[in-house]
Amino acid sequence: MSADSSGLPAKPDYPEPVTASSATPEQLRALTENLPVSLACFNVKTLRFVYSNARFARLVGQDQTALIGMTFGDAAGEEIANAALPFVNMMLEQRQAIKFEYYLPREDHSGFWFDVHLVPDMGADGEFLLCYVLMSNVTAHREAIKEAREAVERLRKFMAASTEGVVFHEGGKIVDVNPPLLRMLGYTYDEVVGQDPLKFMAVDARTEALAAMALARETAYDSVLVHKNGSRIPVQFTPRNLQWDGTTIRMSIVRDMTERMADAARIHFLAMHDSLTGLANRAQLNERLELLVDGAGETQAALAVLFIDIDHFKRINDSLGHAAGDELLVTFAERLKAECGDDALLSRLGGDEFVVVHRQGGSRDILAAFGERLLDALARPLNIEGRRMTVTASIGVAQFPDDGRSVMALLKNADAAMYLAKSQGRATLRFFDPSLARAADQALTIESQLGDAIRNAEFELFYQPQVSEPDGALIGVEALIRWRHPDLGLIGPTQFIHIAEGLQLIAPIGQWVLDEALGQVKAWKAAGWREPRVAVNLSSVQFRAANFVESVLDALKRHNLVGANLELELTERMLMHEGDDTTTTLAALTTAGIGLAIDDFGTGYSSLSHLRTLPIDRLKIDQSFVRELTDSRDCYAITEATIRLASSLGMLTIAEGVETEAQRTILRRMHVHATQGFLIAHPMCASDFMVWLRTATFEN
Ligand code: C2E
Ligand code: MG
Ligand code: MG
Repeated sequence: MSADSSGLPAKPDYPEPVTASSATPEQLRALTENLPVSLACFNVKTLRFVYSNARFARLVGQDQTALIGMTFGDAAGEEIANAALPFVNMMLEQRQAIKFEYYLPREDHSGFWFDVHLVPDMGADGEFLLCYVLMSNVTAHREAIKEAREAVERLRKFMAASTEGVVFHEGGKIVDVNPPLLRMLGYTYDEVVGQDPLKFMAVDARTEALAAMALARETAYDSVLVHKNGSRIPVQFTPRNLQWDGTTIRMSIVRDMTERMADAARIHFLAMHDSLTGLANRAQLNERLELLVDGAGETQAALAVLFIDIDHFKRINDSLGHAAGDELLVTFAERLKAECGDDALLSRLGGDEFVVVHRQGGSRDILAAFGERLLDALARPLNIEGRRMTVTASIGVAQFPDDGRSVMALLKNADAAMYLAKSQGRATLRFFDPSLARAADQALTIESQLGDAIRNAEFELFYQPQVSEPDGALIGVEALIRWRHPDLGLIGPTQFIHIAEGLQLIAPIGQWVLDEALGQVKAWKAAGWREPRVAVNLSSVQFRAANFVESVLDALKRHNLVGANLELELTERMLMHEGDDTTTTLAALTTAGIGLAIDDFGTGYSSLSHLRTLPIDRLKIDQSFVRELTDSRDCYAITEATIRLASSLGMLTIAEGVETEAQRTILRRMHVHATQGFLIAHPMCASDFMVWLRTATFEN
């Protein structure tokens, strides 16, 4: 390039433009040789080639010059010629350019696809002489299309087969969805495609979805769709950004979480309910009571916790089996449900413990009436495994805020009140009382530690003298058990004997008492008491045990003692059930020379005429009569009559609980045979009693 005089750059040396008419044969040849197509021309009359570019010759496997004059069949073989023939004929008939696709197979099966154009060349005079054949190799193009089609097909299959919903959207419009998503939403394909995806989302879920889209986030997130019928569908989206022809399409897999949420809800239900009765369980009670207590603190609302425990449930469970126990629990749960209605929160804590939280009416009267209604409902007879029976329950009540401001305090104190109800005869209701709660608390401690007391040698015997009247000579001594508790100090028998009976601990304790008492006798002899006699209290459980007589006789033998050294104190109740067993037992004991006394006489319902038939040596007039002797005419009359009648029936009498000289004087006047009480001596520990013994005068 050089600059001319104008200073402008000189025109480049382009070849002169060539038009169809001005092109030289060389130019045309150069053009056809350089085109990326295979080009040939044949005579339509002779069907012989008149021209071919190098590419075409190569394609049919012929030399470019040799090809001229050949037919199609000569050049490419009959098979290919026959395949092309119908198209050639069509072109000749229609005198129009036609196009078809042609597959050229190769021996290794990797053939080529060609686009073939047959273009008729009408001469200037309209005579049709020549036809051009243009073939371009489209194999790569076709393969690309095939691949794309397969990809689309694969995606379509995946979308149809997926149980999850799939949606494609682009630029704020849904471009495709699969059938599962349509089923999930309740819409048809046409109702969905072209719409804004946000349209199908719950209003409260849109902000997050918008943010996820805007940031092209690919992390899964929870969302909510809205069904055509308006219901909410909890879902999880897993979005992906796909590049598609230069644009970004967003695809989301939509997982319906309804069932999974239902599972979660079911798991939550199980975690919060008692599986046997379907009532709320302890976890739920704690949670809800917590809320109630919080709320009640602000509103000062009345709130009461009723702790319900089935009486003697363990016995039912042990004797009838766990299935029967379960049946009972279910029945009780139903009855409580029926009584409580929807107002009260009802729960089972486990075992035979139920808790009702009462939310209305703070007055004790209302609560007591409500509690009584529950007790009545529970005490209705029921059928358990075909047996008709009556089972009762005990209820303890604690009120917010007086008896506790926290869930724990309320439950603990309602439990303490329930324990109180149990200790006072069961089948009843008691309100929490702080002082009584302490006693109940102690009872619990006692219950849990009683089993270890023997092993830990924590029991002791105290001894209280019995003296003859009117001379005051020592005739015997009553052994009274004490528990020296490491924390609680000295505990009297009234606080633990009935518990021991309930826990089946009375047999070993009774055995220990007998051994310990008899063990003292030798020392007493040494102190000058020639024929010592120790009175031992019995529990009815001991008395009814099969090996009772043997165990007593064994104990005497072990200590080298005779029957006269021992007196057994029975209660009227033990003798009430007349039967061969009782008679045999009493006879065996009497035969062995063992004394028999009726303790606390007058508090039971036995009559003297009944006792007359039994080998009883001594009646112990209960201290409640002795206490009232100076004040109550009735007590005086009863005591006097008892002493007289007993004497006439050949029984001795001993008055218990003598505390004053006045009582003793009256008793002497009534000719009581002996007295026992603080006036003579308090119960003493073994060593104190030894000291006392040295000062005593003896009956014999
Ligand atoms: P109990 O057999 O009627 O014993 C008499 C109770 O009256 C004793 O109470 C005694 O300490 C008390 N007492 C004695 N003199 C007086 C008095 O002048 N005034 C008053 N107010 N009380 C007096 P304790 O030791 O508390 O025993 C209570 C009950 O426990 C006994 O009543 C007896 O039924 C039972 N018990 C005691 N030891 C045993 C035992 O080893 N086995 C069994 N199964 N029961 C026992
Ligand atoms: Mg006694
Ligand atoms: Mg007594």
